[in-house]
Amino acid sequence: MITVKAYGATESTAPLAPLNIPRRDLKPHDVHVEILYCGVCHSDIHTVRNEWSGNTKYPVVPGHEIIGIVKEVGNAVTKFHAGQTVGVGVMVDTCRTCKPCRSQLEQYCTTGITGTYNALERDGSGMITYGGYSAAIITDENYVLNIRQQENLAGVAPLLCAGITTYSPLKYAKVGPGMKVAVVGLGGLGHMAVKFAVAFGAEVTVISTSASKVAEASKLGAHHFIHASSPDALKPFDSSFDVVLDAISADHDYTTYLNLLDLDGKLLVVGLPEHNPKVAPFALIKNRRNIIGSMIGSISETQEMLDFCHDNNIVAEVETISMSYINEAYERMIRGDIKYRFVIDLSTL
Ligand code: NAP
Ligand code: ZN
Ligand code: ZN
Repeated sequence: MITVKAYGATESTAPLAPLNIPRRDLKPHDVHVEILYCGVCHSDIHTVRNEWSGNTKYPVVPGHEIIGIVKEVGNAVTKFHAGQTVGVGVMVDTCRTCKPCRSQLEQYCTTGITGTYNALERDGSGMITYGGYSAAIITDENYVLNIRQQENLAGVAPLLCAGITTYSPLKYAKVGPGMKVAVVGLGGLGHMAVKFAVAFGAEVTVISTSASKVAEASKLGAHHFIHASSPDALKPFDSSFDVVLDAISADHDYTTYLNLLDLDGKLLVVGLPEHNPKVAPFALIKNRRNIIGSMIGSISETQEMLDFCHDNNIVAEVETISMSYINEAYERMIRGDIKYRFVIDLSTL
């Protein structure tokens, strides 16, 4: 085992602080990645603050939007070599044998994914996984992504979660020319959803509680902006959209957004608030509306998305921060004071 520097929390009310964590010895299929950048996802905050059914194991070291350089590979590794730029996203292992795993949909593994952080390793060692707020990670090559981009790697990091989490459901809903798409919640995920929906050729509307984001939404390529100052503000847009992507991190009523859907419209839910939402059945049956949940994306789809971003010049809009700024960054994210993703420069660890 090796020890590496990291930043983490020891309890739900504690600020993140420096700590040392163990990383396993290199196994034959492992890749040792020295981390350059790690994006800050709202899931990091939910986990640190134990907002999801009390499932956080402390100490927790968050971070699942990881970009780094391969330092060393195990003797059976075929996909990567030392010096290569790589990414690690939200999952680092799955069972590899169940139907979803065999169908390249391993994010829906019937045994659950092994998360990049806050999960138990599958080797029976009892070790907890620790994420990318750290100097290095050692992980299986089958869950590592090839990064073709060589510039603006800080802007590439958020593609590993915010990117794939929005790319996958938009692809699933076959978003393309002639479709009207609304993105609700213009944060880390939401701004990537706008970029993808625009790139796929849809007519895109941003629905935001922040009036200040109007100019930014247009810079991202959105065609329209609705200020959701109250549920009433959305009434004129009843039955107006084919797809609504809901990337809201805070508790909210799904009915408000279901009402926006036209015939056979799809509410694509990716946001994961702390408490269960309400859904009015009459709003659901009207227009034969669908609510579809979506969890990240498979490794093969993540690679497809990264290559799509490389070929179409798509990166996240980021504010690069030093490691010690993380607690302030969390507060700013909760206030919505970030356009649109914080990314930690791990050279400051
Ligand atoms: P984020 O950057 O903090 O963005 C969340 C956005 O939600 C904010 O920018 C804000 O947009 C909107 N919002 C916040 N409070 C609101 C409220 N009370 N009412 C209405 N809108 C509100 O978060 P993120 O990193 O994009 O993550 C978004 C959610 O997705 C989180 O719950 C996260 O855990 C989840 N997530 C899910 C997956 C998955 O696999 N499904 C993967 C990653 C993350 P406006 O200012 O525009 O209103
Ligand atoms: Zn995430
Ligand atoms: Zn499986």
